[in-house]
Amino acid sequence: MYPQSLQKLIECFRRIPGVGEKTAERYALAVTEMDPSAALEFSRAIEEVKTRLTTCHICGNLSDEETCPICADPDRNHKMIFVVQSARDVIAMEKTGQYRGVYHVLNGLLSPSKGIMPEDLNLDRLVERAADAQEIIIATNATMDGETTAMYIDRLLKETCPDVLVTRIAHGLPAGGLLDYADEMTLAHALTDRRQM
Ligand SMILES: [Zn+2]
Repeated sequence: MYPQSLQKLIECFRRIPGVGEKTAERYALAVTEMDPSAALEFSRAIEEVKTRLTTCHICGNLSDEETCPICADPDRNHKMIFVVQSARDVIAMEKTGQYRGVYHVLNGLLSPSKGIMPEDLNLDRLVERAADAQEIIIATNATMDGETTAMYIDRLLKETCPDVLVTRIAHGLPAGGLLDYADEMTLAHALTDRRQM
């Protein structure tokens, strides 16, 4: 029913999680109403995010540079490392404005049932960084995979860096809720109420 070019754009929008048929149609039609320069800017931004965006060589966070702005910030506490599943969690935590340490992005959670093993996660670099750290705060979510991952990291760090303090954020997060959707206050409290593992 739509011209082929428009249909193609609708299908592209539908690939975004949470975007259904109706929303995809609305987005695609909105693009048809944009000035050519605005539409081009849109497509260039998508291209740039895939060609320029990389991961920080220290923490694994998304970054335009080899070292992300957080790792490059001398005013942050580099001895305190907040360990999260994905770059989205970094964004959520930064929004709270309550955390002045640095991060470590695992890029997933351990899941034996899905075949995701320790070597699939950004763990070697975490062990290296933990050697110079004072505290490692494990902030994987409260799902089964999140807990499995937290326990694995705790054991790994106790074996490799026994002097580092390992803490876990309090489970003030909604049951089964993901860290990235938790509201800012809950997240800030979960940090304040963290416990030693
Ligand atoms: Zn970084």
